[in-house]
Formats: sequence, structure tokens, C-alpha cells
Amino acid sequence: MSPQVSVVIPVFNEQEGLPLLFERLYPALDALGRSYEVVFVDDGSSDGSVAELREQFERRPDVTRVVLLARNAGQHLAILAAFAHSRGTYMITLDADLQNPPEEIARLIAAMDAGADYVGTIRRRRRDVLWRKAASRLMNRLRERTTSIRITDQGCMLRGYHRSVVDALNHCTEMSTYVPALAYTFARHPLEIEVAHAERAVGQTKYSLYRLIRLNFDLMTGFSVAPLQFFSMTGGVIALISLILVVYLALRRLIVGPEAQGLFTLFGIAFFLIGVALIGLGVVGEYVGRIYEQVRQRPRYMVAAVLEQAEQGATERLAPAGAAQLPAPLTSAARVRGASE
Ligand code: UDP
Ligand code: MG
Repeated sequence: MSPQVSVVIPVFNEQEGLPLLFERLYPALDALGRSYEVVFVDDGSSDGSVAELREQFERRPDVTRVVLLARNAGQHLAILAAFAHSRGTYMITLDADLQNPPEEIARLIAAMDAGADYVGTIRRRRRDVLWRKAASRLMNRLRERTTSIRITDQGCMLRGYHRSVVDALNHCTEMSTYVPALAYTFARHPLEIEVAHAERAVGQTKYSLYRLIRLNFDLMTGFSVAPLQFFSMTGGVIALISLILVVYLALRRLIVGPEAQGLFTLFGIAFFLIGVALIGLGVVGEYVGRIYEQVRQRPRYMVAAVLEQAEQGATERLAPAGAAQLPAPLTSAARVRGASE
């Protein structure tokens, strides 16, 4: 029977934090008084996270499922992999590092009971380093301007999605995506609530500056072509100004005679414009690169194994032994495709 609530948690090298998470998460969920499942997805961890998850599965097999990815696919694809293996009517996503208090899940569920099919969250007092907060503010503002996605606090992953929204997500095949934004496009009754936020319990953030920039480009290119339009419009304006300048200079040549001043100003302007053109090229490249990734149609992620209890009886249905360590053989292409997306 399908549980009412699925809690989806991506895990990437969170070995030290997982025991703390289990300690707080399960009592909070037991207190809900609803049927639930916790779906952990290991995103190719290289530390002891998988062992921790296996142990937890053995402790609470009735309410725990573990999806093991063969290699790191990134937080958002990992969440999509978990969605494909979740059965709940309400789906809650949560970070594994305890920055999102599990006790807040009850409030998200209450909002969904009240009719919301998408519950976004705003971190009441965000506990992150200063530069992360400043960068987020900037990206939030830019995204609000360029896309039609209305999310106040895009970075908070503690969110609730109704099964109808997740079913739509499960039909998407995009390679680079941003789950809250994609889900928002399918929501009919979105709602935002404020939630608490904590500092990372242990360990380090898994996002380097480069990965953060990439993620924000995913968000921008995935939901808007405004950056492309910005450059075509800028190009148009610059061309118009240049035309006026050329006419003006030609007239001066006729009236005043030959002049050779302003050479370095010209250099300055030329270099500035080369810079603008290169940025424009880069932006086009961000789109083209993602199109290229998409048309190759490689699997988005590879599921090495799923730990779950059989529907009936007490036997455990484990994926093939050793599958977690070995990538699926290339000869069984159909099976690889079946297990991945
Ligand atoms: N995560 C993941 N795959 C990745 C990066 C992160 O599954 O490639 C998980 C990570 O284990 C955590 C969540 O995504 O549960 C959020 O990551 P993190 O706390 O490092 O991000 P931050 O809070 O700094 O934005
Ligand atoms: Mg975190």
C-alpha cells in the first residue's frame, strides 16, 4: 500500500551527519501519525554513507528505502531518481545535513492538507556564510527578472510536492534542471511558508563556487531565454549607436578635415565591446552545451541498487549483490536504460 508521505533525502558524503539525522528524523515522522516512507538516495558517495544507509535500512526496513546511484549525478538529478522510486501522495524533500529541521515537515503537510500542491519555503533566519547569502540574493533577483518562476527563496530545499506535481516531474527528461523551479511550472496551487534553518550539523558544503555558478546557469537556461534576448537587444542598441557615430565621423571628415585624435578611446571602446561579445558568446555556449548534453540522450543517472522491502511478506528484495560497486555491464544496454533515465 502506498504511504501518505514520502520524505526524499539526497546524500552525498554525509557519513558523520547521518546518525544525527536518523535520530531526529524518524521520531519527527513517527509523531505525524501518518503512514510514511523515507527514501534516501545516495549520490555516489565515496565515504561510509552507503554503509550508514544500509544499517538504517536494516533497522527500519518497513519505512526506509535506499536508492544507490552508481556515480555522482548532482543533487537535483539525485532527487529526481528518488522521486521515480517514491510512492507517497505527499512528497517532502530535505537536505541530509540537518540544515532543514525535520520537525518542520508537519507544517508542510498541514499546508498540503489545506490544498496546496506545492509548498515552497522561506528560511526565517538563514544560517550560511555571508558570501553565500549575498550571492543567493543576487541570483534570486536575477531569476525573478528573467523567468516566470516566483520563488522567494530558491535555495531552500525543504519543500513539499503533491503526487500530481511529482508525476509530471517523472515525465521530464531534462539533463540539467532545478527541481523546485521545474515543479513550480506544474503547480496549480503553490504556497510559501516560513521555516527554520540551521547551520550545517557536521561536514562541509558540497557546493564549490564553480558548482554553484553551474547550478544557477541551469536555472537560468532551463527556464528562460531572456539572457539570449538581452544580448540580441544590446547588440541592436550598440549597432544603432555605432551607425550614428559613423555618420557623425564622416560628416566631420568632410567639414573639419582629417583627424587622428581619440585613437586610445577607440581602443577602450573596442575592447569593451569585444568583452561584451565574448560574454554573449559564453551565454549562447551555456545554452548550446546543454542542448548538446540533451541530444546525446545519455542516461541522466544510473541506479546501482535499490534497498527496499518486498510489498508482501518479510523478505527483503535487494538489488543484485555487488551491483553498487560495479557499473552495469555495457552489453545489457536495455537493462541499463531500464535502471536509469
Ligand atoms: N548533495 C547531493 N549531491 C551533490 C551535492 C549535494 O546529493 O552533488 C546533497 C547533500 O548531501 C545534501 C544536500 O544535497 O544533503 C545539500 O547539499 P549541501 O548541504 O552541501 O548544500 P548547501 O546547503 O551548502 O547549499
Ligand atoms: Mg546544506
